[in-house]
Amino acid sequence: MSHLTDPTTAHPQPPFPGTKQPVPGDFYKMDPTPDHGEKTYEGHGRLAGRRALITGGDSGIGRAVAIAFAREGADVAIGYLPEEQENAEDTAKLVEEAGRTVALLPGDISKEEVCQQLVADTVSKLGGIDLLVMVAGIMPTVDSIDDLDTGVLDHVMKTNVYSLFWLTKAASPHLEPGSGIITTGSIQSFQPSPSLAEYATSKAGITNWTRAMAGQLAPRGIRVNGVAPGPFWTPLQPSSVPPEKLESFGEDTPFGRPGQPAELASTYVYLASNESSYTSGETIVVNGGTTGH
Ligand code: NAD
Ligand code: MG
Repeated sequence: MSHLTDPTTAHPQPPFPGTKQPVPGDFYKMDPTPDHGEKTYEGHGRLAGRRALITGGDSGIGRAVAIAFAREGADVAIGYLPEEQENAEDTAKLVEEAGRTVALLPGDISKEEVCQQLVADTVSKLGGIDLLVMVAGIMPTVDSIDDLDTGVLDHVMKTNVYSLFWLTKAASPHLEPGSGIITTGSIQSFQPSPSLAEYATSKAGITNWTRAMAGQLAPRGIRVNGVAPGPFWTPLQPSSVPPEKLESFGEDTPFGRPGQPAELASTYVYLASNESSYTSGETIVVNGGTTGH
C-alpha cells in the first residue's frame, strides 16, 4: 500500500452543488460535508496542559483547530455567534471525547465588552489562558463602490480587526511568557479580489497587526503569528459568495480544489506549540500551491 497522498485528489474537487446559506452558515448543511479532521487528526501531546480561546471555533477552520488542540492535550474555550449553538455543541462534544475541558462562549465579538467578557469567561472556566487563537471573521461581497454601505464596512472592521485589539488587550494581563497569539489572515491579505475590498483590507490589516503586535509582545515572551488560508471549504463560503463561484470553488488553485479545514489544523498547532519557539511576527500561507503573493 502506498503511503503517499496525492494533494490534487485527496479531497473533493469542483464542481459543487453551489447551494447558498444565510450568514453565518452551518457545516451540517454543506454538500460535500467539510472534513475538520474528526476521523483523522491524531494528537501527540504537543499542547499538553495549555488553555486556548478559539474565536469562531464552532465551524470550519476554528472547529478543526479546536479538535486538533484538544487531541494535543489543550483545554478549549470556543467563541461563536448565538445562532451557531448547534455547531458549537457538536464541536464541544469532540473536545470532551478527547478528554479535555470545553467552555462554550456565545457572543458577538464586534463589541468591545463582549471581547472582554469572552476572555474573562475563558480564564474563569479554564483556570487561565495561554493561547489566544482568533479565527472568527466575516466576508461580505460588494461588487461596486457605488454600493458601499458604511454599516457593512464598520461591521467588517469591528469583527475582523478591532476584535484583535480588544481580545488581546483583555488577555494580555493573563498571558505568561511562552504564551501564544495566532491570527487568521487570508490570501486576500496579499491578492485582493475586486468584490472583496472591505474584507481584503481587513485581512491585510490582520497580517500587518500580527507583525506589529509581535514586536510589542516579544519582550514579554509572547509570540504572535498568523495563518493565511487560500480557498477552504467552510460555511463562510456558501454564506458569502454567489452560487456560481461556489460551484467552481477552488478550481483556480494549482491543486484544482479547495482545502479542507483538516488540512490547516496542524499549522495552528505548530504555531501554538513550543516547536515554533523562535518564530514570531510571521504568517504562514496555506493555499493549494498558488504563488506570487
Ligand atoms: P466559518 O464560517 O466556519 O467561521 C467563521 C466564524 O466566525 C463563524 O463560525 C462565527 O462563529 C464567527 N463569527 C463571525 N462573526 C462573528 C461575530 N460578530 N462574533 C463572533 N463570532 C463571529 O468559516 P471559516 O472559513 O472557517 O472562517 C474562519 C476564518 O478563516 C475567517 O477569519 C475567514 O476570514 C478566514 N479565511 C477563510 C477562508 C476560506 O476560504 N474559508 C480563506 C481565508 C481566510
Ligand atoms: Mg460557524
